[in-house]
Amino acid sequence: MVQEIKTVSRATELCCPSCGRIYNIYLLQTYATCCNQPLVTNYYLGNLSKNIIDKSVASMWRYAALLPLFDKKNLVSLEEGSTPNILLNKTAAKLNQNKIILKDEGANPTGSFKARGISVAVSKAKELGITHIVMPTAGNAGGALSAYAAKADIKATVIMPRHTSETLKEECRLYGAELILLDGLIDACGKKAGQLKQEKGYFDMSTLKEPYRLEGKKTLGYEIAEQLNWQLPDVIIYPTGGGTGLIGMWKAFNEMIEMGWISGKLPRMVVVQTENCNPMIQALATGIIPETYVATPSSALGLAVPRPFAKDLIIEAVKASNGTAISVSEEEMERGIRDIASSEGILLSPEGSATYVGLKKLIEKDWIKEDETVLLFNTGSWYKYR
Ligand SMILES: *Cc1c(COP(=O)(O)O)cnc(C)c1O
Repeated sequence: MVQEIKTVSRATELCCPSCGRIYNIYLLQTYATCCNQPLVTNYYLGNLSKNIIDKSVASMWRYAALLPLFDKKNLVSLEEGSTPNILLNKTAAKLNQNKIILKDEGANPTGSFKARGISVAVSKAKELGITHIVMPTAGNAGGALSAYAAKADIKATVIMPRHTSETLKEECRLYGAELILLDGLIDACGKKAGQLKQEKGYFDMSTLKEPYRLEGKKTLGYEIAEQLNWQLPDVIIYPTGGGTGLIGMWKAFNEMIEMGWISGKLPRMVVVQTENCNPMIQALATGIIPETYVATPSSALGLAVPRPFAKDLIIEAVKASNGTAISVSEEEMERGIRDIASSEGILLSPEGSATYVGLKKLIEKDWIKEDETVLLFNTGSWYKYR
């Protein structure tokens, strides 16, 4: 049941992560136009204790003090977050690995972790008087936006690649959104979204082109820390598309260090992508994604992002954490789904399977040691891909 939020947001300002320019948090903002970067939210964190966590709230809004919503009457929640951590004991024994934890984000409303970011972004859109949102999506973000916009009485236009599954399309229609299908990947959909923003004045909620989906995804970091009794894993393997969750967790970890909630070494952050679309592998090696880079579709829909807007922030988090990046093939993901389903009784999305395959590869390379604790993500529900 939705409990009333009692804590007050400590958010103070928005900031360009590149030059530090401050943007007014009480006005509608998009991204840091000064440096063409996402905007990040700053908080007054001085001497905040863990008591600020509102334990009467089961959802991720228990961290409302560290989220940017100022007036709780604007809250749009379907009880997202508080997802289970499942120990993959049989897999750990087979791979001779100390501990493998699977955070199952498929348990979220609308069946993916996109619910976290969209709950905060739609709540803020309501707070700032937005009436029509447009969003390009590989699939799951569109479903989440459609559901939360319905709840908020905000109109939604979702633009999706035509090759996406029927389930992902039909849920948008059922939630009452306008659905536009295009040939190509999410970057083509993003161009169309930009055009509708220009022509019709819709608010563009593309990944990291507005500040607050990042804050919602940040709750992954707080939740992992709280659920694991403030002992973070050694390695986190994240299936990376736009990178919101990876950047968000890294932000959460650093906020928690600043507040003194955690100490010691932070997890090494691993980017997993597919062989069909792995721009971050090149970007991590060279700092750029070549103009000529071409991606092809993948069964891991959420990872098919050829040009992540937040590339620089992804690189920063991976490097600062001593992390790495790895690619997996379509066949490996397919086999991974079968492995985990038949041994652990859990159906992974292709993206979730990518983290398991990435783990196996990094153990083989001896990049992950056997005494380390590893956290994998199942970012979405298998059922949405039919
Ligand atoms: C969107 C999505 C991802 C990628 O998340 P980013 O934060 O954009 O990197 C991974 N898995 C699933 C199931 C997704 O829907």
